[in-house]
Amino acid sequence: MERYDIGIIGTGPAGLSAAINGKIRNKNIIVFGHEDLSAKVTRAEKINNYLGFINVSGNELKDSFQEHIRSMNIEIVPERINNVYAMGDYFALMVNDVIYEVKTVILATGIEYTRPFPGEEEYIGRGVGYCATCDAPLYKGKTVAIIGYNKEAEEEANYVSELASKLYYIPMYSGDLKLVPSIEVIKDKPMKIEGEDRVTHLVLKNQKLSVDGIFVLRDSISPGQLVPGLRIEDNHIAVDRLMSTSIPGCFAAGDCVGKPYQYIKAAGEGLIAAISASAYLDKLKREKL
Ligand code: FAD
Repeated sequence: MERYDIGIIGTGPAGLSAAINGKIRNKNIIVFGHEDLSAKVTRAEKINNYLGFINVSGNELKDSFQEHIRSMNIEIVPERINNVYAMGDYFALMVNDVIYEVKTVILATGIEYTRPFPGEEEYIGRGVGYCATCDAPLYKGKTVAIIGYNKEAEEEANYVSELASKLYYIPMYSGDLKLVPSIEVIKDKPMKIEGEDRVTHLVLKNQKLSVDGIFVLRDSISPGQLVPGLRIEDNHIAVDRLMSTSIPGCFAAGDCVGKPYQYIKAAGEGLIAAISASAYLDKLKREKL
């Protein structure tokens, strides 16, 4: 199996800046994220504080980012990483049952602005999950609700529906849904998650669903769940000025490390993370000589 020098998770300004700077340093990189890069970029109406770009729309900025990475032959693997495991001298990045091996990792996953639902954190691992395709076998013949924040969640829902006896899908976005007919779509507002030893109900504004499991599929997984053992401070990944996290070889940049939540700060930190990852790789190489 190919072992990459740097695995970059996230395709917002932080991840892409890390990618171009890793490539400039001649490192063998792999970038995971979205072909459309980042919803936080495309959704911006007008941007006036990114140096060199005057009064651009988010889509225009995205196009420039895309042109830049294409010009450097950087490709995006359109996959969502579910877990990152530190294995000693490398990291295993998991996409369902596929594993990618990287020597260093840069977390540039952005931040989820929405707060957890009441009851959500209490029932993690006891009926609440964040990777429907990973945990679907646990719900064979059971009733499951999926709260989906993006179109990718629809694919996970279609897969889970093959195993679950009943699947409710609660879309948190507008637009057409591509779901198999057996899935019941409920357009209502989730309010809280209830249970006893395990989850028993999803309470919506206008109804209460009796369920065995609930998957909350947001744009990003919280960093503490993504990387077991990572030090978190005030809901952000703790880093030093070199963007090093508490795990050697693991760096982080952008919104996931803290405020201010701004493009240029994210891009600057992506650059630092790539330089630090490259220096770490060079040190590893010297130690092996
Ligand atoms: P993001 O841009 O959030 O990118 C993270 C990416 O990682 C996403 O594509 C996400 O899908 C992906 N990802 C997450 N988890 C995984 C995973 N497990 N596997 C694979 N991929 C993953 N800032 C400004 O400076 N000026 C502005 O004018 C401005 N306007 C804004 C307008 C709006 C509507 C919004 C929402 C934000 C605005 N911001 C603005 C803030 C700015 O968008 C963020 O600070 C910036 O996008 C952060 O970049 P990032 O790279 O850290 O994360």
